[in-house]
Amino acid sequence: MDITIIAAPEHERVVEFKDSALGLLGYVAIHSTRRGPAAGGVRMHPYGHTAEALNDALRLARGMTFKNAAADLPLGGGKAVIVGDPQVDKSPELLQAFGQVVQSLSGQYWTAEDMGMTPIDMAHIGFKTDFVAGLAEGQFASGDPSPITARGIHNAICVTARHRFGLVNLNGLTVSVQGLGHVGAHLCHLLDDAGARLIVTDVDARQSARIAEKFSAQAVAPDAIYDVKADIFAPCAIGGTLNETSIPLLRVGAVAGGANNQLASDGDAQMLHHRGILYAPDFVANGGGIVNVATEILRVAEREAWVADRLKALKQTMDRILTRAKIEAVSPHEVAESIVQEMLHPKAA
Ligand code: NAD
Repeated sequence: MDITIIAAPEHERVVEFKDSALGLLGYVAIHSTRRGPAAGGVRMHPYGHTAEALNDALRLARGMTFKNAAADLPLGGGKAVIVGDPQVDKSPELLQAFGQVVQSLSGQYWTAEDMGMTPIDMAHIGFKTDFVAGLAEGQFASGDPSPITARGIHNAICVTARHRFGLVNLNGLTVSVQGLGHVGAHLCHLLDDAGARLIVTDVDARQSARIAEKFSAQAVAPDAIYDVKADIFAPCAIGGTLNETSIPLLRVGAVAGGANNQLASDGDAQMLHHRGILYAPDFVANGGGIVNVATEILRVAEREAWVADRLKALKQTMDRILTRAKIEAVSPHEVAESIVQEMLHPKAA
């Protein structure tokens, strides 16, 4: 196994790992350990180019610093990516080799599940490292974080609906949901229970049809989700779907969803703001997942109560962000970034 340090000025530590015999190639990016050990999942994806994989790790790691701080967790931000198709290239040996990489970082980075990974994969990684969370079994095992992530997004949608439409519940509200995987499917369940009407899409047409049938939702083609008329758009698939092409198409009053890095660039927050579309910052809306994972890293005994408290605090943080954005007439993304910067670099009293 070759582990090489990569220079990245904004990050504390970045390594490339490569084991040609196993077909393993990837990156661990540690953005910040200022608030505690860096925590963030490992993503397996068939990146077209190594530069794309590295860039994703760097961006996602920075996002984790912000997400963990926004959830007021004593954790920093990091992320790992493995280049490969999870359906084809994943093997127990490859996962264990990745576990060795994590162990070599001596607890500076804690890994967990992200796209392309499952709790079983975490168990394989855990054969070689102590610094893995999202396990299905064990005293502090937190399992699949998606249901808690969805609860947090549902809370964010409730707060956003109140700020944007003055609504105290979601009854009769139309929500368009992009991506019906672990998070999106749970979210649809919660929204349906709350009386919302759903418009859904997924690149997997069968999943789209399943969810549409289950919740009497309208299913649309993946590209059609951007210009459906709805009250709130909930991106729950991949990053970068809010961009200069999609934003002009949107016919919604607000965006609140679970995908990481929804904005292709910071400028896209401005574009949403200028269009009068209220944007619930993603790293606050989807913080439930890391709250769940944190119970395992921090060995929390009273798990349910602790998670409920943290979800409530996240909801209050979203409320604070949207309130301040309104008062200052700026985008909520700008406010969220500045609140986290204040947490990371507190001014001396
Ligand atoms: P997942 O892989 O289970 O589901 C993603 C779904 O999106 C899949 O069904 C996929 O077919 C679909 N999809 C992909 N590209 C699409 C597109 N262009 N249009 C429509 N559908 C598309 O992943 P997940 O765990 O549900 O995570 C979804 C998002 O939420 C990701 O961005 C992830 O990083 C983020 N997130 C997840 C968690 C968690 O707890 N799982 C926590 C925080 C953030």
